[in-house]
Amino acid sequence: MDYPELKTSLTERIPQVEGLRCVLCGVLYSLDEAKYVCPSCGPVGTLDVVLNPNVLWPTRVDPMRRALVWEEERFMPIARDLPKPNETIALRVGDTPYYHWSETKNPFLRSHPFAVKDDSKNPTASFKDRASAMVVHHALTIGASVVATASTGNAAAALAGISAAMPQIQAVIFVPATAPQAKIAQLLVYGAKVILVDGTYDEAFDICWEACEEFGWYNRSTGINPFTSEGKKTIAWEISFSGYEMPDVVCVPVGDGSIIGSTYKGFADLKKLGWIDQIPRLIGVQASGSSALVHAWENNLDPREMQPRPAQTIADSISASLPRDRAKALRAVRETNGAIIRVTDSEILDAIPALAQATGVFAEPAGASAFAGWLVGLEKGYIHEKERVLILNTGSGLKDINSAMKSVHGVGVLRPVKPEMDEIRKAVAKFEW
Ligand SMILES: [Zn+2]
Repeated sequence: MDYPELKTSLTERIPQVEGLRCVLCGVLYSLDEAKYVCPSCGPVGTLDVVLNPNVLWPTRVDPMRRALVWEEERFMPIARDLPKPNETIALRVGDTPYYHWSETKNPFLRSHPFAVKDDSKNPTASFKDRASAMVVHHALTIGASVVATASTGNAAAALAGISAAMPQIQAVIFVPATAPQAKIAQLLVYGAKVILVDGTYDEAFDICWEACEEFGWYNRSTGINPFTSEGKKTIAWEISFSGYEMPDVVCVPVGDGSIIGSTYKGFADLKKLGWIDQIPRLIGVQASGSSALVHAWENNLDPREMQPRPAQTIADSISASLPRDRAKALRAVRETNGAIIRVTDSEILDAIPALAQATGVFAEPAGASAFAGWLVGLEKGYIHEKERVLILNTGSGLKDINSAMKSVHGVGVLRPVKPEMDEIRKAVAKFEW
């Protein structure tokens, strides 16, 4: 595919975007002035892509067009002189299943209907493909051919996978040397350039940023690239135009806080466009071993006051000592009368088979934490029994088989038997039906 030579500014090429506004100080920068974070607030001052109301049409969207979010330029910051992301991005991203459950084998869940949005059905099996698709499309817009990110998990796999299918884009991934082998394998299989950093994730993040500056690479890292939020916000569109009634509550796993922050941004943009009337309450769920945002929410902290806190949880995708997107995450729950609640690793592990056996949706620990958070939220009164609840599963259980095996007490529960009917009868007699 040939792309036109870049002759005009981004402001002219993406006229439906007014600019990038700092979520802390509120200063609005043009698309040509700022790239990642607010120049005066620094890394905590993440930027919102602000839609320009003067270029928008106050029409109600046709729900039948819901699969076409990637070409809806009133909602997405896509340049008018390029093909739309659904043409430039080779893999199909988003439009994931929305399941509604009222009948399950679990008696408690039978009296508590709920819905699941299963984002493990994205190309690399996680929600993060939404962000990578938008960022890679924007890389084409600005003429970048190398996109880099620091990550230990799903965001890295998403960038590697989306880029693999794009002849114009090469992915560079910075991962701590301690990253799980399975995740490094996914990156290598997709053909990404992988740099193992002998240090922490935070150090990998910082050196990735430095390398991007030196080599002129485009930086996709979570929490600093405003276009990641624009990709992630497509989830709000799909929830709003699912054909189901709008949920009262959406439960979202929270690590760096960018998924919940972007979900809010999507609903807020849809409301600004006049396409929805109400935004669901957003409930963030953190692991108790990595709960900096729960602490900030409970103590009503300003994101600028937050300090790093120890982060240790089985749900590696939501392990963050100082969440990068803390400002957007806190705004999401404060603006929607939501909450951020903590669940223990043991509750997360229990939630993996509980969700899978009730719905057939096999979630990684982070995804299962949203389900665990709903149950804890009901118990503690953060969520009312009558509220329509949507659980967001952000990643496939196949991403973390060790945790999955732990959740069902390991291989030790199964003993091989001889293929003889006497043995089979004994085994069947032990089943609990
Ligand atoms: Zn600022």
